[in-house]
Amino acid sequence: MSVAGLPPSPSDVLQRAAPATAGPDFGALAERDPELAGILAAETDRQRGGLQLIAAENFTSPAVLAALGSPLVNKYAEGYPGRRHHGGCEVVDRAEQLAVDRAKRLFGAEHANVQPYSGSSANLAAYAALLVPGDTVLAMSLEHGGHLTHGSAANFSGRWFRFAGYGVRPDTGLVDLDQVRDLALTLRPKAIVCGSISYPRHLDYAAFRRIADEVDAYLVVDAAHTIGLVAGGSAPNPVPYADVVCATTHKVLRGPRGGLILTGAALARRIDRAVFPFSQGGPHMNTVAAKAVAFAEAAAPAFAEYTRQVVANARALADGLADEGLEPATGGTDTHLVAAGTRPLGVDGLEARSRCARAGIVVDKCSLPFDERPRSSGSGIRVGTSSVTTQGMREPQMAEAARLIGRALRDADGTRASGPDGTAAAVAALAAAHSPYPPR
Ligand SMILES: *Cc1c(COP(=O)(O)O)cnc(C)c1O
Repeated sequence: MSVAGLPPSPSDVLQRAAPATAGPDFGALAERDPELAGILAAETDRQRGGLQLIAAENFTSPAVLAALGSPLVNKYAEGYPGRRHHGGCEVVDRAEQLAVDRAKRLFGAEHANVQPYSGSSANLAAYAALLVPGDTVLAMSLEHGGHLTHGSAANFSGRWFRFAGYGVRPDTGLVDLDQVRDLALTLRPKAIVCGSISYPRHLDYAAFRRIADEVDAYLVVDAAHTIGLVAGGSAPNPVPYADVVCATTHKVLRGPRGGLILTGAALARRIDRAVFPFSQGGPHMNTVAAKAVAFAEAAAPAFAEYTRQVVANARALADGLADEGLEPATGGTDTHLVAAGTRPLGVDGLEARSRCARAGIVVDKCSLPFDERPRSSGSGIRVGTSSVTTQGMREPQMAEAARLIGRALRDADGTRASGPDGTAAAVAALAAAHSPYPPR
Protein backbone atom coordinates (compact mmCIF):
# COMPACT_ATOMS: atom_id res chain seq x y z
CA MET A 1 0.00 0.00 0.00
CA SER A 2 1.30 3.47 -0.70
CA VAL A 3 1.15 5.97 2.12
CA ALA A 4 -0.27 9.42 1.36
CA GLY A 5 2.50 11.93 0.71
CA LEU A 6 5.24 9.31 0.31
CA PRO A 7 6.45 7.89 -2.94
CA PRO A 8 5.07 4.40 -3.53
CA SER A 9 7.27 1.58 -2.26
CA PRO A 10 8.98 -0.62 -4.84
CA SER A 11 6.51 -3.40 -4.15
CA ASP A 12 3.66 -1.00 -4.94
CA VAL A 13 5.38 -0.20 -8.20
CA LEU A 14 5.63 -3.89 -9.08
CA GLN A 15 2.06 -4.60 -7.99
CA ARG A 16 0.77 -1.87 -10.22
CA ALA A 17 2.26 -3.75 -13.16
CA ALA A 18 0.32 -6.87 -12.22
CA PRO A 19 -2.73 -6.70 -14.51
CA ALA A 20 -1.10 -8.00 -17.65
CA THR A 21 -3.66 -6.36 -19.89
CA ALA A 22 -3.83 -2.85 -18.48
CA GLY A 23 -2.23 0.07 -20.25
CA PRO A 24 0.54 2.14 -18.68
CA ASP A 25 -0.60 4.31 -15.78
CA PHE A 26 0.75 7.84 -16.10
CA GLY A 27 -1.27 9.12 -13.11
CA ALA A 28 1.58 10.49 -10.97
CA LEU A 29 3.39 11.91 -13.97
CA ALA A 30 0.24 13.60 -15.23
CA GLU A 31 0.05 15.61 -11.99
CA ARG A 32 3.70 16.64 -11.90
CA ASP A 33 4.38 17.14 -15.60
CA PRO A 34 1.22 17.24 -17.69
CA GLU A 35 3.13 18.38 -20.75
CA LEU A 36 5.35 15.30 -20.88
CA ALA A 37 2.56 12.99 -19.68
CA GLY A 38 0.56 14.14 -22.68
CA ILE A 39 3.42 13.12 -24.97
CA LEU A 40 3.68 9.67 -23.35
CA ALA A 41 -0.05 9.14 -23.66
CA ALA A 42 0.02 10.28 -27.30
CA GLU A 43 2.84 7.84 -28.12
CA THR A 44 1.01 5.00 -26.35
CA ASP A 45 -2.07 5.83 -28.43
CA ARG A 46 0.04 5.94 -31.60
CA GLN A 47 1.49 2.51 -30.81
CA ARG A 48 -1.88 0.92 -30.15
CA GLY A 49 -3.76 2.84 -32.84
CA GLY A 50 -1.88 1.63 -35.92
CA LEU A 51 -0.34 -1.47 -37.35
CA GLN A 52 3.24 -1.67 -36.01
CA LEU A 53 5.31 -3.60 -38.53
CA ILE A 54 8.82 -2.28 -37.76
CA ALA A 55 10.82 -5.53 -37.71
CA ALA A 56 13.11 -4.38 -34.87
CA GLU A 57 10.29 -3.48 -32.48
CA ASN A 58 8.02 -5.29 -30.06
CA PHE A 59 5.64 -4.58 -27.17
CA THR A 60 7.33 -5.26 -23.83
CA SER A 61 5.32 -6.78 -21.01
CA PRO A 62 4.09 -4.75 -18.01
CA ALA A 63 6.65 -6.68 -15.90
CA VAL A 64 9.51 -5.46 -18.10
CA LEU A 65 8.13 -1.91 -18.01
CA ALA A 66 7.91 -2.14 -14.20
CA ALA A 67 11.55 -3.19 -13.87
CA LEU A 68 12.57 -0.35 -16.18
CA GLY A 69 10.68 2.17 -14.07
CA SER A 70 12.04 0.83 -10.77
CA PRO A 71 14.44 2.52 -8.31
CA LEU A 72 17.25 0.33 -9.65
CA VAL A 73 17.71 3.19 -12.11
CA ASN A 74 19.24 5.15 -9.20
CA LYS A 75 22.09 2.74 -8.54
CA TYR A 76 25.65 3.15 -9.77
CA ALA A 77 27.38 -0.23 -10.10
CA GLU A 78 30.56 0.05 -12.18
CA GLY A 79 32.17 -3.36 -12.39
CA TYR A 80 30.60 -6.79 -12.05
CA PRO A 81 28.71 -8.62 -9.26
CA GLY A 82 31.00 -8.98 -6.23
CA ARG A 83 33.63 -6.72 -7.85
CA ARG A 84 32.15 -3.21 -7.92
CA HIS A 85 33.74 0.20 -7.70
CA HIS A 86 30.75 1.60 -5.81
CA GLY A 87 29.33 0.86 -2.37
CA GLY A 88 25.84 -0.42 -1.78
CA CYS A 89 25.73 -2.86 -4.68
CA GLU A 90 24.79 -5.97 -2.72
CA VAL A 91 21.16 -5.90 -3.89
CA VAL A 92 21.69 -4.97 -7.54
CA ASP A 93 24.42 -7.64 -7.67
CA ARG A 94 21.63 -10.18 -7.22
CA ALA A 95 19.65 -8.67 -10.12
CA GLU A 96 22.65 -8.80 -12.48
CA GLN A 97 23.60 -12.33 -11.41
CA LEU A 98 20.02 -13.44 -12.04
CA ALA A 99 20.11 -11.89 -15.52
CA VAL A 100 23.48 -13.54 -16.29
CA ASP A 101 22.38 -16.97 -15.03
CA ARG A 102 19.09 -16.80 -16.92
CA ALA A 103 20.81 -15.75 -20.16
CA LYS A 104 23.37 -18.56 -19.86
CA ARG A 105 20.65 -21.13 -19.27
CA LEU A 106 18.36 -19.79 -22.01
CA PHE A 107 21.03 -19.90 -24.72
CA GLY A 108 23.32 -22.65 -23.39
CA ALA A 109 26.27 -20.26 -23.11
CA GLU A 110 29.24 -20.54 -20.75
CA HIS A 111 29.36 -16.80 -20.20
CA ALA A 112 26.97 -13.87 -20.59
CA ASN A 113 27.54 -10.14 -20.30
CA VAL A 114 24.24 -8.30 -19.81
CA GLN A 115 25.65 -4.78 -19.51
CA PRO A 116 25.87 -3.48 -23.12
CA TYR A 117 23.67 -0.41 -23.51
CA SER A 118 22.53 -1.52 -26.97
CA GLY A 119 23.28 -3.87 -29.83
CA SER A 120 25.77 -1.39 -31.25
CA SER A 121 27.58 -1.21 -27.90
CA ALA A 122 27.72 -5.01 -27.81
CA ASN A 123 29.36 -5.04 -31.25
CA LEU A 124 31.82 -2.32 -30.23
CA ALA A 125 32.83 -4.38 -27.19
CA ALA A 126 33.13 -7.59 -29.22
CA TYR A 127 35.43 -5.90 -31.74
CA ALA A 128 37.43 -4.31 -28.91
CA ALA A 129 37.91 -7.73 -27.29
CA LEU A 130 39.11 -9.45 -30.48
CA LEU A 131 40.68 -6.82 -32.75
CA VAL A 132 43.03 -3.89 -32.90
CA PRO A 133 42.45 -0.86 -35.15
CA GLY A 134 43.44 -1.60 -38.73
CA ASP A 135 42.47 -5.29 -38.57
CA THR A 136 40.53 -6.76 -41.47
CA VAL A 137 36.97 -7.96 -40.86
CA LEU A 138 34.63 -9.75 -43.25
CA ALA A 139 30.92 -9.00 -42.83
CA MET A 140 27.77 -8.83 -44.92
CA SER A 141 27.95 -5.71 -47.08
CA LEU A 142 25.59 -2.94 -46.04
CA GLU A 143 23.98 -3.03 -49.51
CA HIS A 144 22.97 -6.65 -48.91
CA GLY A 145 21.75 -6.27 -45.32
CA GLY A 146 24.72 -5.61 -43.04
CA HIS A 147 24.23 -3.30 -40.04
CA LEU A 148 25.91 0.11 -39.64
CA THR A 149 28.32 -1.53 -37.17
CA HIS A 150 29.43 -3.94 -39.92
CA GLY A 151 31.70 -1.39 -41.57
CA SER A 152 29.71 1.72 -42.49
CA ALA A 153 32.10 4.60 -43.25
CA ALA A 154 29.94 6.79 -40.99
CA ASN A 155 30.38 4.38 -38.04
CA PHE A 156 33.31 3.53 -35.72
CA SER A 157 33.47 0.13 -37.37
CA GLY A 158 34.27 1.50 -40.82
CA ARG A 159 36.61 4.14 -39.38
CA TRP A 160 38.73 1.83 -37.22
CA PHE A 161 38.73 -1.46 -39.11
CA ARG A 162 39.14 -2.59 -42.70
CA PHE A 163 35.77 -4.13 -43.48
CA ALA A 164 35.18 -6.19 -46.60
CA GLY A 165 31.69 -7.23 -47.59
CA TYR A 166 30.16 -10.48 -48.79
CA GLY A 167 26.67 -10.66 -50.22
CA VAL A 168 23.85 -12.79 -51.49
CA ARG A 169 23.58 -14.61 -54.80
CA PRO A 170 21.68 -12.75 -57.53
CA ASP A 171 19.73 -15.87 -58.56
CA THR A 172 18.53 -17.08 -55.14
CA GLY A 173 18.99 -14.11 -52.81
CA LEU A 174 20.74 -16.50 -50.40
CA VAL A 175 24.12 -15.81 -48.78
CA ASP A 176 26.87 -16.72 -51.23
CA LEU A 177 29.03 -19.01 -49.08
CA ASP A 178 31.48 -19.58 -51.98
CA GLN A 179 32.08 -15.83 -52.05
CA VAL A 180 32.49 -15.74 -48.24
CA ARG A 181 35.14 -18.47 -48.46
CA ASP A 182 36.94 -16.90 -51.45
CA LEU A 183 37.09 -13.51 -49.71
CA ALA A 184 38.23 -15.13 -46.47
CA LEU A 185 41.03 -17.02 -48.23
CA THR A 186 42.16 -13.88 -50.09
CA LEU A 187 41.86 -11.33 -47.27
CA ARG A 188 42.67 -13.52 -44.21
CA PRO A 189 40.35 -11.48 -41.93
CA LYS A 190 40.90 -11.49 -38.17
CA ALA A 191 37.14 -11.87 -37.70
CA ILE A 192 34.11 -12.87 -39.75
CA VAL A 193 30.79 -11.28 -38.79
CA CYS A 194 27.60 -13.11 -39.59
CA GLY A 195 24.24 -11.39 -39.11
CA SER A 196 21.95 -8.93 -40.84
CA ILE A 197 19.18 -6.37 -40.48
CA SER A 198 17.05 -7.60 -43.37
CA TYR A 199 18.10 -11.11 -44.43
CA PRO A 200 14.94 -13.21 -43.96
CA ARG A 201 16.51 -16.70 -43.95
CA HIS A 202 18.41 -18.75 -41.38
CA LEU A 203 22.18 -18.41 -41.61
CA ASP A 204 24.36 -21.51 -41.93
CA TYR A 205 26.49 -21.06 -38.79
CA ALA A 206 28.27 -24.39 -39.27
CA ALA A 207 29.45 -23.30 -42.73
CA PHE A 208 30.63 -19.93 -41.40
CA ARG A 209 32.48 -21.78 -38.61
CA ARG A 210 34.27 -24.01 -41.12
CA ILE A 211 35.36 -20.98 -43.16
CA ALA A 212 36.51 -19.12 -40.03
CA ASP A 213 38.52 -22.17 -38.92
CA GLU A 214 40.09 -22.49 -42.36
CA VAL A 215 41.56 -18.97 -42.13
CA ASP A 216 41.98 -18.90 -38.34
CA ALA A 217 39.49 -16.06 -37.88
CA TYR A 218 37.12 -15.38 -35.00
CA LEU A 219 33.45 -15.95 -35.80
CA VAL A 220 31.22 -13.19 -34.42
CA VAL A 221 27.50 -13.79 -34.87
CA ASP A 222 25.44 -10.61 -34.66
CA ALA A 223 22.08 -12.15 -33.75
CA ALA A 224 20.45 -8.82 -32.84
CA HIS A 225 17.29 -9.66 -34.76
CA THR A 226 17.03 -13.40 -34.35
CA ILE A 227 18.11 -14.05 -30.74
CA GLY A 228 14.46 -13.98 -29.65
CA LEU A 229 13.62 -16.69 -32.19
CA VAL A 230 16.57 -18.66 -30.83
CA ALA A 231 15.19 -18.31 -27.28
CA GLY A 232 11.90 -19.78 -28.44
CA GLY A 233 13.50 -22.59 -30.44
CA SER A 234 12.35 -21.14 -33.78
CA ALA A 235 15.81 -20.39 -35.20
CA PRO A 236 19.16 -22.20 -34.97
CA ASN A 237 21.28 -21.30 -31.96
CA PRO A 238 24.60 -19.68 -32.98
CA VAL A 239 26.17 -20.20 -29.52
CA PRO A 240 27.77 -23.62 -30.30
CA TYR A 241 29.44 -22.21 -33.44
CA ALA A 242 30.45 -18.64 -32.64
CA ASP A 243 33.36 -17.33 -30.59
CA VAL A 244 31.15 -14.41 -29.64
CA VAL A 245 27.41 -13.86 -30.09
CA CYS A 246 26.18 -10.27 -29.91
CA ALA A 247 22.49 -9.54 -29.58
CA THR A 248 19.86 -7.05 -28.56
CA THR A 249 17.22 -7.71 -25.93
CA HIS A 250 14.44 -5.55 -27.40
CA LYS A 251 13.67 -7.06 -30.81
CA VAL A 252 11.88 -10.43 -31.07
CA LEU A 253 13.14 -11.17 -27.53
CA ARG A 254 10.67 -8.53 -26.24
CA GLY A 255 12.78 -7.19 -23.38
CA PRO A 256 14.11 -3.70 -22.62
CA ARG A 257 16.26 -1.80 -25.12
CA GLY A 258 19.74 -3.13 -24.62
CA GLY A 259 22.55 -5.42 -25.66
CA LEU A 260 23.79 -8.87 -24.69
CA ILE A 261 27.03 -10.76 -25.35
CA LEU A 262 27.36 -14.54 -25.08
CA THR A 263 30.72 -16.28 -25.23
CA GLY A 264 32.76 -19.23 -23.98
CA ALA A 265 34.88 -19.38 -20.83
CA ALA A 266 38.08 -18.69 -22.80
CA LEU A 267 37.01 -15.21 -23.94
CA ALA A 268 34.87 -14.31 -20.92
CA ARG A 269 37.34 -12.02 -19.22
CA ARG A 270 38.31 -10.24 -22.45
CA ILE A 271 34.66 -9.61 -23.28
CA ASP A 272 33.88 -8.32 -19.79
CA ARG A 273 36.82 -5.93 -19.84
CA ALA A 274 35.90 -4.74 -23.34
CA VAL A 275 32.44 -3.78 -22.04
CA PHE A 276 33.63 -2.25 -18.76
CA PRO A 277 35.94 -0.36 -18.40
CA PHE A 278 36.92 -0.17 -22.07
CA SER A 279 33.74 1.01 -23.79
CA GLN A 280 31.17 1.73 -21.09
CA GLY A 281 30.80 3.20 -17.61
CA GLY A 282 28.19 2.16 -15.08
CA PRO A 283 25.60 -0.35 -16.25
CA HIS A 284 21.95 0.73 -16.34
CA MET A 285 20.78 -1.51 -13.49
CA ASN A 286 17.07 -0.98 -14.12
CA THR A 287 17.63 -2.23 -17.67
CA VAL A 288 19.75 -5.14 -16.43
CA ALA A 289 16.87 -6.10 -14.11
CA ALA A 290 14.40 -5.80 -16.99
CA LYS A 291 16.65 -8.10 -19.05
CA ALA A 292 16.40 -10.67 -16.24
CA VAL A 293 12.60 -10.41 -16.45
CA ALA A 294 12.66 -10.81 -20.24
CA PHE A 295 14.95 -13.87 -20.09
CA ALA A 296 12.55 -15.53 -17.63
CA GLU A 297 9.58 -14.69 -19.85
CA ALA A 298 11.43 -16.05 -22.89
CA ALA A 299 12.16 -19.34 -21.11
CA ALA A 300 8.45 -20.04 -20.61
CA PRO A 301 6.66 -22.47 -22.98
CA ALA A 302 4.31 -19.65 -24.02
CA PHE A 303 7.28 -17.81 -25.55
CA ALA A 304 8.22 -20.80 -27.71
CA GLU A 305 4.63 -20.83 -28.97
CA TYR A 306 4.89 -17.07 -29.53
CA THR A 307 8.01 -17.42 -31.72
CA ARG A 308 6.37 -20.20 -33.78
CA GLN A 309 3.43 -17.87 -34.41
CA VAL A 310 5.80 -14.97 -35.23
CA VAL A 311 7.33 -17.06 -38.04
CA ALA A 312 3.96 -18.42 -39.23
CA ASN A 313 2.67 -14.85 -39.33
CA ALA A 314 5.69 -13.62 -41.27
CA ARG A 315 5.17 -16.39 -43.83
CA ALA A 316 1.48 -15.47 -44.15
CA LEU A 317 2.41 -11.80 -44.52
CA ALA A 318 5.02 -12.61 -47.20
CA ASP A 319 2.47 -14.70 -49.13
CA GLY A 320 -0.13 -11.97 -48.86
CA LEU A 321 2.30 -9.29 -50.03
CA ALA A 322 3.28 -11.47 -53.01
CA ASP A 323 -0.43 -11.75 -53.88
CA GLU A 324 -0.58 -7.94 -53.81
CA GLY A 325 2.22 -7.77 -56.39
CA LEU A 326 5.18 -7.05 -54.08
CA GLU A 327 8.35 -9.13 -54.40
CA PRO A 328 9.53 -10.73 -51.13
CA ALA A 329 13.32 -11.18 -51.20
CA THR A 330 14.29 -14.88 -51.38
CA GLY A 331 10.61 -15.60 -52.09
CA GLY A 332 9.56 -15.64 -48.43
CA THR A 333 10.99 -15.95 -44.95
CA ASP A 334 12.19 -18.31 -42.18
CA THR A 335 12.09 -15.58 -39.57
CA HIS A 336 10.02 -12.67 -38.27
CA LEU A 337 10.88 -10.35 -41.12
CA VAL A 338 10.03 -9.86 -44.76
CA ALA A 339 11.94 -7.56 -47.13
CA ALA A 340 9.67 -6.94 -50.09
CA GLY A 341 10.30 -4.99 -53.30
CA THR A 342 7.62 -2.41 -54.10
CA ARG A 343 8.86 -1.43 -57.56
CA PRO A 344 6.30 -3.62 -59.39
CA LEU A 345 3.65 -1.28 -57.92
CA GLY A 346 5.54 1.72 -59.26
CA VAL A 347 6.77 3.09 -55.91
CA ASP A 348 10.17 3.16 -54.25
CA GLY A 349 10.66 2.30 -50.56
CA LEU A 350 10.37 5.87 -49.30
CA GLU A 351 7.11 6.50 -51.15
CA ALA A 352 5.79 3.10 -50.03
CA ARG A 353 6.54 3.98 -46.41
CA SER A 354 4.68 7.28 -46.63
CA ARG A 355 1.67 5.74 -48.42
CA CYS A 356 1.47 3.11 -45.66
CA ALA A 357 1.85 5.81 -42.99
CA ARG A 358 -1.22 7.65 -44.33
CA ALA A 359 -3.22 4.54 -43.51
CA GLY A 360 -1.68 4.03 -40.05
CA ILE A 361 0.59 1.19 -41.18
CA VAL A 362 4.13 1.69 -39.85
CA VAL A 363 6.88 0.08 -41.96
CA ASP A 364 10.53 0.71 -42.79
CA LYS A 365 11.79 1.47 -46.25
CA CYS A 366 14.67 -0.78 -47.22
CA SER A 367 17.22 -1.40 -49.92
CA LEU A 368 17.21 -4.78 -51.57
CA PRO A 369 20.32 -6.56 -52.84
CA PHE A 370 21.41 -5.44 -56.33
CA ASP A 371 19.20 -2.37 -55.92
CA GLU A 372 20.42 0.48 -58.12
CA ARG A 373 18.36 3.01 -56.17
CA PRO A 374 20.07 5.24 -53.62
CA ARG A 375 19.84 3.84 -50.06
CA SER A 376 17.95 7.00 -49.06
CA SER A 377 14.88 5.90 -51.01
CA GLY A 378 15.32 2.14 -51.32
CA SER A 379 13.31 -0.19 -53.48
CA GLY A 380 11.06 -1.86 -50.97
CA ILE A 381 9.78 -2.18 -47.44
CA ARG A 382 10.94 -4.23 -44.47
CA VAL A 383 8.18 -5.52 -42.23
CA GLY A 384 8.23 -7.79 -39.18
CA THR A 385 5.64 -9.64 -37.16
CA SER A 386 7.06 -9.46 -33.60
CA SER A 387 4.75 -6.67 -32.43
CA VAL A 388 1.54 -7.78 -34.12
CA THR A 389 2.05 -11.35 -32.83
CA THR A 390 2.47 -10.05 -29.27
CA GLN A 391 -0.89 -8.33 -29.87
CA GLY A 392 -2.41 -11.73 -30.59
CA MET A 393 -2.76 -11.46 -34.36
CA ARG A 394 -2.55 -14.66 -36.40
CA GLU A 395 -2.52 -15.71 -40.07
CA PRO A 396 -5.97 -14.32 -41.00
CA GLN A 397 -4.98 -10.90 -39.63
CA MET A 398 -1.71 -11.09 -41.60
CA ALA A 399 -3.65 -11.75 -44.80
CA GLU A 400 -5.79 -8.72 -43.98
CA ALA A 401 -2.68 -6.63 -43.21
CA ALA A 402 -1.18 -7.56 -46.59
CA ARG A 403 -4.41 -6.55 -48.36
CA LEU A 404 -4.38 -3.21 -46.52
CA ILE A 405 -0.73 -2.61 -47.45
CA GLY A 406 -1.52 -3.35 -51.10
CA ARG A 407 -4.47 -0.99 -50.99
CA ALA A 408 -2.38 1.75 -49.36
CA LEU A 409 0.41 1.36 -51.92
CA ARG A 410 -2.00 1.65 -54.86
CA ASP A 411 -3.55 4.79 -53.38
CA ALA A 412 -1.33 7.38 -55.09
CA ASP A 413 -3.07 10.54 -53.90
CA GLY A 414 -4.30 9.28 -50.53
CA THR A 415 -7.98 9.61 -51.40
CA ARG A 416 -8.74 6.04 -50.31
CA ALA A 417 -6.97 6.40 -46.94
CA SER A 418 -9.53 8.44 -44.98
CA GLY A 419 -13.26 8.28 -44.46
CA PRO A 420 -15.46 5.57 -42.96
CA ASP A 421 -14.57 3.06 -45.71
CA GLY A 422 -10.95 4.21 -45.93
CA THR A 423 -7.85 2.12 -45.39
CA ALA A 424 -7.01 3.98 -42.16
CA ALA A 425 -10.34 3.06 -40.60
CA ALA A 426 -9.83 -0.63 -41.46
CA VAL A 427 -6.31 -0.50 -39.97
CA ALA A 428 -7.60 1.18 -36.79
CA ALA A 429 -10.29 -1.49 -36.42
CA LEU A 430 -7.74 -4.29 -36.84
CA ALA A 431 -5.43 -2.70 -34.26
CA ALA A 432 -8.23 -1.98 -31.79
CA ALA A 433 -9.36 -5.61 -31.90
CA HIS A 434 -5.85 -6.67 -30.74
CA SER A 435 -4.71 -3.87 -28.48
CA PRO A 436 -1.26 -4.43 -26.91
CA TYR A 437 -2.06 -2.10 -23.99
CA PRO A 438 -5.85 -1.80 -23.75
CA PRO A 439 -6.90 1.59 -22.39
CA ARG A 440 -7.56 1.55 -18.64
C1 LIG B 1 19.44 -3.74 -34.33
C2 LIG B 1 20.77 -4.24 -34.75
C3 LIG B 1 21.95 -3.77 -34.14
C4 LIG B 1 22.01 -2.58 -33.21
O1 LIG B 1 21.20 -2.51 -32.15
P1 LIG B 1 20.97 -1.12 -31.39
O2 LIG B 1 20.37 -1.54 -30.10
O3 LIG B 1 20.05 -0.31 -32.27
O4 LIG B 1 22.29 -0.44 -31.21
C5 LIG B 1 23.14 -4.36 -34.50
N1 LIG B 1 23.19 -5.33 -35.40
C6 LIG B 1 22.09 -5.79 -36.03
C7 LIG B 1 22.23 -6.89 -37.04
C8 LIG B 1 20.85 -5.25 -35.73
O5 LIG B 1 19.77 -5.70 -36.37
